Parts: sequence; structure tokens; C-alpha cells
Amino acid sequence: MKQIIINEKCNGCGMCVVKCPNYFESNDDGNAQVIKGVLAGNDAVLNTVISECPVKAISFGGEVNIKQSLQEEVNKLKAFANGLNVKREDIAFTDAYCTVTTFPYVGSSSYEYSSSSSAERAGLSKFRDRAYSQIDSKILDVITSYRVNIIKPYYSTDEKSVYTQLNKKISDVLTAVSNLIGKNKLPSDFCNVDVYPERDTVWKMLEKGEIIGENFVSIVRREFKYSASDYQTYIDWDDMEDYRGKDKYCYRAQEAVEELRKDVQSAVRWARSDIEENSLGYVNGIVNDYNRKLKTFLDKKLSIIAKFVV
Ligand code: SF4
Repeated sequence: MKQIIINEKCNGCGMCVVKCPNYFESNDDGNAQVIKGVLAGNDAVLNTVISECPVKAISFGGEVNIKQSLQEEVNKLKAFANGLNVKREDIAFTDAYCTVTTFPYVGSSSYEYSSSSSAERAGLSKFRDRAYSQIDSKILDVITSYRVNIIKPYYSTDEKSVYTQLNKKISDVLTAVSNLIGKNKLPSDFCNVDVYPERDTVWKMLEKGEIIGENFVSIVRREFKYSASDYQTYIDWDDMEDYRGKDKYCYRAQEAVEELRKDVQSAVRWARSDIEENSLGYVNGIVNDYNRKLKTFLDKKLSIIAKFVV
């Protein structure tokens, strides 16, 4: 059995893929590639395709030691049996998730207050109602963004799922094994890898945002120390003399709102370590279940392959 090689001259005409689908497939660039693990025997159709390739891109490589190649694939499978090892840096609550967007507009009154202190009090009241009351909502926004973007691959089964991605790698190795042993000697589903963790309570709560959601708001809240009145000094007031000679005052609260935003953002940053640590606990609970199932799955595959590795 020999290796089959396709060089860079391939122009993606697709002829070999159509005529020898057991040997060739198209890659993401539209060019042909040899199906993983496939070797060349004495095959007349293959020989014809090689001679008919318009740019002579296909050739035979060296003889392959089947036993040695099979052992290499087995070693890869054994390494996969360790499963996923999730570390803090894998689920880092990076700067991108620490950005707190601006709070609702508090605005400024028109000139309707008879003293600077009454304008300032009115401004603080508006600040409390429209901005300060939204702190939890703002914290929940950043936590939710983190869960959906960083944690979701650990509680999903789509293409971005960490389980789907590892399953795919294992499937590729099993395909190589299958090609070395011979597909007809193995069960038809030999290369299928459909291992996922139990969709348990934690998984479902993550999907609903019941954990790494509202339950984490308190973690950030512990780092936020300010009362609404602490922002009073940032409520600006201004005066105007009306035509009757009486002073009237207005307030402006933009600066207070911006200070609040920065303080909430700082609290999020201070809380990131606790957020990561708690998240890792949830993630590892799910991943450990996957790793247990994966080990059982791979043990079965390796026992099948062992019959062919003499
Ligand atoms: S026949 Fe030759 S040029 Fe055409 S896809 Fe195959 S390798 Fe590429």
C-alpha cells in the first residue's frame, strides 16, 4: 500500500473527486485532497485518474507500514481518552466583557428651581430613578455576554461546542484507522462520534441564564461600594436670572452618570476572578461527565482495533 500525494498544482477541477470519491475529497479551498488515511492499492480506476489529472498533480508516495501507521493512530486515540482539561484561561473573563455601556440618559431640567440646592436634589432624585436603579441590569448585561460568548461552548452541541470539536478530531482519527484496517471489516458506524455530556440540571440552568446570570450579579455588587448620594457632588447646577430679577436654577447629571458607569465597570473588573472561579466550577461539572463518557466510548473503539493490531 502506498501513500497518495496531491501537490500544489491542483486547480480544483474536481475530476478525481468525482471519479474516485473513495480516495479524494474537496478541501475548503475547493482543491482536491486525499481522504485521511486512504492508501493506494492496485486500483485501475485510480491509476487512470492519476494519468488523466490535467495538471499532473497526483502521484504515489512511499510504501506505508500499515502496522506502524495503525499504532500511531491508536496512540492518538489513547491521548484523546484524557478528555477535555478546562483551565481558568480557557474561560477568562477578559477586558472585552468588562465594558459597561452608558446608562440611560438622565438629562438636565429646564430652569425651574428656585435654589441651587433644590436643583441639585432634583438632579440626584432623577439620577437615582433613571441611572442608579439600573446597576443590576447593567451588571447582568456583561455577565450574560460572557456566558453566551465564552461559556456556551461548554453547554451546547452545535459546531462551536467544545464537545463537537473534539468529537470531530476523534472521528478523523477513526476514519484513518478505518481506512488502514478496511471499512468492510469494521461496524458501519465505527467512525461516528456522538459523545456529549448529560443535559443535566446545571446545563439547563445555563441555557436559561439561571446560573452565570442573575446569581452572579451579587458577586459584582460586593465590589461596588457607593450609595446614590455619593454621586451628589457630581450633580451640577446652573442659574439664570429671569426678567423679573429672580434667580432660577437647573441641574445637569451627565457627569454623575459617567462616574457611576466607571465605578460599575471597576466593580466588574474586581469581580472577574470570582466570576471565573465560579464559572469554572459549573463548566468542570459538565466536562467531567463528558470525559467519563468519552473514556468509555474510546475503550470500546480501542478494543475493536486491538483485534487488528497484532
Ligand atoms: S484531477 Fe488533478 S487538478 Fe483536478 S482536482 Fe484532482 S488533483 Fe486537482
